[in-house]
Amino acid sequence: MSANNIPYKTYLEENEIPKAWYNLRADMKIKPAPLLNPGTGQPLTAEELTPIFCEELVRQELDNDTAYIPIPQEILDFYKMYRPSPLVRAYCLEKVLDTPAKIYYKFEGNNTSGSHKLNSAIAQAYYAKKQGLKGVTTETGAGQWGTALSMACAYLGLDCKVFMVRISYEQKPFRREVMRTYGASVTPSPSMETEVGKKILAEFPGTTGSLGCAISEAVEVAVRNPGYRYVLGSVLNQVLLHQSIIGLETKAAFDKLGVKPDIIIGCAGGGSNLGGLIAPFMGQKLRGEEDYRIIAVEPASCPSFTRGRFAYDFCDTGMICPLAKMYTLGSGFIPSPNHAGGLRFHGMSTILSQLYHDGYMEARAVEQTSVFEAAELFARSEGLLPAPESSHAIRAAVDEALKCRETGEEKNILFGLTGTGYFDLKAYEQFNDGVMTDYIPTDEDLERGFAGLPQVNA
Ligand SMILES: *Cc1c(COP(=O)(O)O)cnc(C)c1O
Repeated sequence: MSANNIPYKTYLEENEIPKAWYNLRADMKIKPAPLLNPGTGQPLTAEELTPIFCEELVRQELDNDTAYIPIPQEILDFYKMYRPSPLVRAYCLEKVLDTPAKIYYKFEGNNTSGSHKLNSAIAQAYYAKKQGLKGVTTETGAGQWGTALSMACAYLGLDCKVFMVRISYEQKPFRREVMRTYGASVTPSPSMETEVGKKILAEFPGTTGSLGCAISEAVEVAVRNPGYRYVLGSVLNQVLLHQSIIGLETKAAFDKLGVKPDIIIGCAGGGSNLGGLIAPFMGQKLRGEEDYRIIAVEPASCPSFTRGRFAYDFCDTGMICPLAKMYTLGSGFIPSPNHAGGLRFHGMSTILSQLYHDGYMEARAVEQTSVFEAAELFARSEGLLPAPESSHAIRAAVDEALKCRETGEEKNILFGLTGTGYFDLKAYEQFNDGVMTDYIPTDEDLERGFAGLPQVNA
């Protein structure tokens, strides 16, 4: 197919939807470092993890070797309600940019939760149900994960308790109502409902909260209540595994079109959409079959990859979670209230951290106002209103396409459009009013976060 005969949207047929997730770890020569027990400093065993997570999810978390894990039929049936998602050729954006580059995006916002997070929410809720549990607890930042999980729990008849970062709870009351409509209970975090929440509130009165802090509260509630487990919407290996559906569909669609992307771009919060989008492509790269340029894009206000340390750290502020070796700003780092709430996590997936450390991918940090400029350009040309998180990827894709305009190169650029921005209109309002700021932490701010890194001899 010649580059200009590519359809605006490419969908797989229902029977072409991948039937197994791809586990990138199977092809990594250097595996991601294991999670450690913060008490003993030893790798966590399945027995230690099962009080927190469902059994099957623990197996997936610890499985570094099985390349393909079949997707249970019940999950495939749920996926059919909103998948396959389209691979879109951004003809209109290309035209506005006057670039010879071919721009493609995989759109994951076509479900009520408005993001890719539903791909893992339904999987995690399914395994909890299968284990006979009553319910699950979780944290949510911007609210996309909490919404996705409430949808999945409503579908399966599971109880869902969500701790929502306080700033988002206040800024995004509509998100909260969507979750409640799906039957979830939503508590602003930090709260007085948990020991760790009380402790954080005593230490930092008036704090706007953070993902790390909400995680601590959700874990505490799961561990204390029989029949409950904790689920996490990003960072973990199991989440990247479930999100591989994004990349597998994308690769299958590209193969149908006879196109190979040169550059693959995704925004990076905890790393799940990026890890999922790149999975099969990175697999080829690791096996030496193909080469791709892969770019992670993060906010300059929360720059885990570009300014973080590659070290063992806690995933939560309360320091009750396992230690993960990742690019981190320190679990005590509370990022400025940037509007891309889904990217405000201090750490990063251990899989992506290892791949970045080993030189398989690049990372760049972008400032908030330049992200919204890209979002506006995209909305006005392609029509969709992008989520602020996704717009980080748009920014980098636009910048790469503009470079192609300089050099005349006809590169194929793929980015992940992870979601829609209908619940982010406060942020758009600030941008439209010209009062949006670009907060970038100083080196001293970051040093304070690094000073809290745990001492680990691993
Ligand atoms: C949560 C979220 C992200 C970031 O999370 P990752 O785990 O890094 O993918 C990006 N985009 C949207 C729309 C989100 O909801």
